[in-house]
Amino acid sequence: MLWVELLNMQEWTITVALDLVPNEDRDCAGLATSQPDINLGQLTLRADIEDTKEWEITIVHELLHVKHSRIDSYFEIVVAPNLNGVAPWFAWETYKRLYEPFVHSMAVSLVEIRQAQARG
Ligand SMILES: [Zn+2]
Repeated sequence: MLWVELLNMQEWTITVALDLVPNEDRDCAGLATSQPDINLGQLTLRADIEDTKEWEITIVHELLHVKHSRIDSYFEIVVAPNLNGVAPWFAWETYKRLYEPFVHSMAVSLVEIRQAQARG
């Protein structure tokens, strides 16, 4: 997979599955799960995937989630358990609200840079 190399993720084993309704959400184009301790990531993409820029952005977006999962795992295993009360929930919700737009912005930028390079 080209993007695995471009994102320097060769140490990861990436599997891809198709699902008619990923995450039981008809608006969900894809999702990623990972086990960063064993370099395993799985992308689940909606089965109506096509060869379009939007789908390429979705794939890169989900790969970035896998690549970033070591940091997510650190938060979940080390940081969150040491917070009290609603603090873990609040911290995680805040993190996601900052992190999701960042991941998507990076995916869009990377796909646009690659397409511009391909055009010469
Ligand atoms: Zn996302």
